[in-house]
Amino acid sequence: MAIKYVAEPFRIKMVETIKMLTREERVQKIAEAKYNTFNLRGEDVYIDLLTDSGTNAMSQEQWAGVMRGDEAYAGSSSYYKLLDAAQDITGYKYIQPVHQGRAAEKVLFGVMMGKGQYSISNMHFDTTRAHVELSGARAVDCVVPVANDPAKRAPFKGNMDVERLESLIKEYGPENVALVIMTVTNNSAGGQPVSMANVKETAAVCKKYGIKLNIDAARYAENAYFIKQREEGYADKSIKAIINEMFSYADTFTMSAKKDTIVNMGGLYGVKEDEELFTACKGRTISFEGFTTYGGLSGRDLEALAIGLYEGLDEDYLKYRIGQMEYLASRLDDAGIAYQSPVGGHGVFVDAKAMFPHIPYNEFPGQALAIELYIEAGIRTCDIGSYMLGNDPDTGKQLEANFEFTRFAIARRVYTQAHIDIMADALIAIKKRAEQVKGFRITWEPPVLRHFQAHLEPVK
Ligand SMILES: *Cc1c(COP(=O)(O)O)cnc(C)c1O
Repeated sequence: MAIKYVAEPFRIKMVETIKMLTREERVQKIAEAKYNTFNLRGEDVYIDLLTDSGTNAMSQEQWAGVMRGDEAYAGSSSYYKLLDAAQDITGYKYIQPVHQGRAAEKVLFGVMMGKGQYSISNMHFDTTRAHVELSGARAVDCVVPVANDPAKRAPFKGNMDVERLESLIKEYGPENVALVIMTVTNNSAGGQPVSMANVKETAAVCKKYGIKLNIDAARYAENAYFIKQREEGYADKSIKAIINEMFSYADTFTMSAKKDTIVNMGGLYGVKEDEELFTACKGRTISFEGFTTYGGLSGRDLEALAIGLYEGLDEDYLKYRIGQMEYLASRLDDAGIAYQSPVGGHGVFVDAKAMFPHIPYNEFPGQALAIELYIEAGIRTCDIGSYMLGNDPDTGKQLEANFEFTRFAIARRVYTQAHIDIMADALIAIKKRAEQVKGFRITWEPPVLRHFQAHLEPVK
């Protein structure tokens, strides 16, 4: 039996009409999109689960803040409001807004690392990896092995493998490890949380070898909620206190504010106390993003972000949000549909390999399920598997991913229980005709980040 749905802790004041096209229209639209869900028009999608990034619904307070935004080029009052909020929540002395998370990575990593060096992370998000590599350094993932077993339930599948981290540092030489990055929650592993104990242990290893620790903080509030629910000693702590403690173990953070801070655009980075480092970053901020008091954002964006930083910590909201994932997961449990379990914070990662055992990795089971979901119910998702992983840069051969997921990323404060039921029902319908579903082949692809643009066709 599915668990009880946690009711929305808000009511609806403004609506956006969505429409489901007919099945014939959907079959035609997805063919026109060359079987790539990124090529669909938003208006042709009924329920959009492509990403939880920047797709959030802002509150009445945030929209009121938009009107109050101070558009002064220098010294905007909205900037100071944002500074106060971020300093209060993270405890960091130096805070800098930027236009989105990858801008924070571009600025910081360009200062902190370079050729011949390494960045080690519990898992680099794709833009994070790209900016490590653009700086000339190499990105190495070091997640706990249980993350690669979707059926095995563990409370903190996003954790760093601390033992392996230390042996990697010894192997590369501490002087060659420029940075350790803790991604919370661990996006690429399915939004899986990291425990406080693991952050602490990772920080201790970094300290031992004189290496800086950066938090990739896109989903810091969801991660704190999991710590409160699952880790001993945190049940009575506030979300803010948990976040504050987590940040205290690191030296810097980069943040995509398009996730847990519930805005549509924005980012931040922070430096706990190293003034010299912050000064170096400031220079790059001005050349890439704009003057330091706006960092690539409008005053209205800064204002909405300052408000969202606090709204994202609200426990009633977090309970409802994680409750949505758990409700969808429990409906899948009832139907015997496998997913990365237990569910993470921002989406449900359905195990397409388990649903389509007859489709090999190089015919992209995760993509096949994404296409079926659009045809079945107008639902847009994406592949997190071999299709997204791409080709070996040296041999040009298709790589095989550890998992073949189709990601249902849930936008914040956007969809209701009835929408979630449509998602579950669509999966159940597809499972019934699973053996008829065919794989895909690529007919055209660009050299990098191909999944955004590639053209595909069904295998005959
Ligand atoms: C989204 C994301 C980023 C990149 O942020 P953008 O705002 O998309 O540029 C970096 N790291 C993680 C973990 C993310 O989820």
